[in-house]
Amino acid sequence: MLRYLMTCCLTLVVGGAAAQGADPAAIRLLSGQQVPLALQTLEKLVSIESGSRDLAGLAKIRQLIEAELNAMGLASEVIATTPADQTGAMVQAKIKGKGTSRIALIAHMDTVYQRGDLARQPFRVEGDKAYGLGIADDKAGVAMILHTLRMLSALNIDSFGELTVLINGDEEIGSPGSRERITQLGQNSDLVISFEGSSVKGDYVRLATSSIARATLTVAGRASHSGASPEQGRNALYELSHQILQMRDLSDPAKGLKLNWTQASAGTVPNMIPSQARATADVRAERMSDFDAVETVLKERIKNKLIPDTTVTVDLLRGRPALNATDKSRAAARQVLALAGEINWKITMLETATGGGTDAAYASLHTQGAVIESFGLQGFGAHSDDAEYVLISSIQPRLYITTRLIQSFKP
Ligand SMILES: [Zn+2]
Repeated sequence: MLRYLMTCCLTLVVGGAAAQGADPAAIRLLSGQQVPLALQTLEKLVSIESGSRDLAGLAKIRQLIEAELNAMGLASEVIATTPADQTGAMVQAKIKGKGTSRIALIAHMDTVYQRGDLARQPFRVEGDKAYGLGIADDKAGVAMILHTLRMLSALNIDSFGELTVLINGDEEIGSPGSRERITQLGQNSDLVISFEGSSVKGDYVRLATSSIARATLTVAGRASHSGASPEQGRNALYELSHQILQMRDLSDPAKGLKLNWTQASAGTVPNMIPSQARATADVRAERMSDFDAVETVLKERIKNKLIPDTTVTVDLLRGRPALNATDKSRAAARQVLALAGEINWKITMLETATGGGTDAAYASLHTQGAVIESFGLQGFGAHSDDAEYVLISSIQPRLYITTRLIQSFKP
């Protein structure tokens, strides 16, 4: 009954708002009315498992997103990624307006989770928290885009020139199949709004993200019987441990540089001195140049060995680039802060990276425009197995701010 009433009232509000034009009060009213509907969309989105490698799941969530777009009268397009058998396709929609600004809305539909995890994190609402698998990262982003589009359409907002929606399915594995498209879209946009989440500790608009690299440390020793002749062996695991311990101090938090050894493996059976060992470190930096410095130190440190007859090598594989604040992104963020002020919503501008890396960085690679991040919802527990949630109270302000921004943005 409550649900019926919401739908009924919404229709009336939309009709009224369209007649009056899309003034801030109408946008505010409609954004509030969207909250229960956005929750329904979130429930649908998180109830489809869509891990980055789960191509069947990704196809299913893509169909849901397309159906939502089509229901608004928007044509959608599926853009295949290559290789198509390893990453899910993207969904794109373009909306023409009467203005000149080219605005892109990006989010991702894939998650870090595996098939079967849904049972442990089903959708549920407790107070102000909506829990679910991948709900903060990044199904809330997808839902916010869909409901922003509904608002624009209901309020007849067409002050932009062209609005492009691009939702990819491989963000959590580094966007190998979509990064080129995202970079191209950024290049052709005056404003890119990326819909990853912000924090439950305080809402923010993010202008910087870290770049990511992986260091791989490999040790080759010599195998030998661990009972009969251990002295003949050269223990690769001992050498690896020594190397990791002497390279555990390479982080420089003040510079945004973080290097943490996170995975290691050695040996094949318990009764053999291991001849091979390998470890991986996750490396984050604010500037690509910081990686060059880290690489130099890594290559220097490995020369100090515990076991002389072992061979130690280290490689640094650079992944996603960093997103750095620019004058244009700061100007767009100031506009966001002003719009938030219209509804007394507290939001801050975050100009330094805190370790995360997102597709906003790809969008910023060759752009002359502004790229701003974290237009999903305030959330918590991304990449965890029991506590991922978003704050329901952030839905209304986020829809208001994003709609007003699209309405008023001037390149
Ligand atoms: Zn994400």
